[in-house]
Amino acid sequence: MTDIIIVGCGTAGMTAAIYALRNNKSVLILESEAVGGQIAISPKVENFPTYRSISGQDLATKMFEQTLDLGARFELENALSISKDENGVFTVKTDIGEHKSLAVIIATGAKQKHIGIASEDKLLGNGVYYCAICDGAFYKGKEVALIGDGNTALQSAIMLSSICTKVYMLTWFDKFFGDESLVTTVRKTENIVIMPYTNVTDFLGNDRLTGLKVLDRLKGTEFILEVPAVFVAIGQIPDNKRFLPLVELDKDGYVLGDDAMNTKTEGLFVAGDTRKKAIRQLTTAAGDGAIAAMSAIAYLNR
Ligand SMILES: Cc1cc2nc3c(=O)[nH]c(=O)nc-3n(C[C@H](O)[C@H](O)[C@H](O)COP(=O)(O)OP(=O)(O)OC[C@H]3O[C@@H](n4cnc5c(N)ncnc54)[C@H](O)[C@@H]3O)c2cc1C
Repeated sequence: MTDIIIVGCGTAGMTAAIYALRNNKSVLILESEAVGGQIAISPKVENFPTYRSISGQDLATKMFEQTLDLGARFELENALSISKDENGVFTVKTDIGEHKSLAVIIATGAKQKHIGIASEDKLLGNGVYYCAICDGAFYKGKEVALIGDGNTALQSAIMLSSICTKVYMLTWFDKFFGDESLVTTVRKTENIVIMPYTNVTDFLGNDRLTGLKVLDRLKGTEFILEVPAVFVAIGQIPDNKRFLPLVELDKDGYVLGDDAMNTKTEGLFVAGDTRKKAIRQLTTAAGDGAIAAMSAIAYLNR
């Protein structure tokens, strides 16, 4: 029996582990894919306090070493479901077997939606990005492109327009699906060029992005947009249905939690990008992880 099972070995999960272990709780971390979560694929991180600049892989490795040094157990297993019995004991079923604990923290993150073209994955991190807050600063003073028409895309366009000379915003229709105030700001910002009824058919370049092949859906013609960077902001996908009915999800599938990271089930906590929240970043994931662990510790001590 472990005190706390943490599902997901990203920034939120590892921070939760560090806090729990330093409070003498035993911890088992389950990870379905690779240690580090989303940040492990980012070539450069420059907004996480302590390191002026560090690769995402190095940052994730340092976090992981810290959790192992403190005594975390780690298993490469995919958590398939969570249940709780009448004695308050949780069972986490995985693709390999099952584990029991007195508390569980869900820190399963989310995946960025991709356009789905082979050249997109090839140039990931070398001109193709999914997080303008994280990687926009690398293109200060340059022209960039942005794909998307929702709130994240609108916020990203506004943010990029303050550091880049021009932001080409490629949208599916001549319509945005976000807050009216953001739409108004985007439409008023002179260096945001909205390109409606377009879709990207190819990401060009061998080692680095040189441009985009774009289809003008009204004219039915293709053209090349030469840019060194494109930010894809078409949404994220959390994968939490498997944890029903112990958690409540919002319409997009994010777990609802309160300020102390409690879910609707006592002893079951949530942290990081997989939680319904406004800003999904390393620092906020770490903050969530710390709070979830402290709440779990208080629950166990009771
Ligand atoms: C390319 C890229 C660059 C980024 N750059 C920055 C940056 O520079 N600065 C910044 O602040 N933020 C950046 N971000 C955002 C940042 O990475 C996330 O906010 C952060 O990783 C969220 O941490 P998390 O632990 O909540 O989730 P994640 O990092 O997504 O980790 C969740 C982990 O849970 C695992 N998991 C999921 N389901 C299961 C399951 N059923 N069983 C077991 N394990 C499971 C996943 O495999 C994953 O490893 C970037 C994101 C991307 C994609």
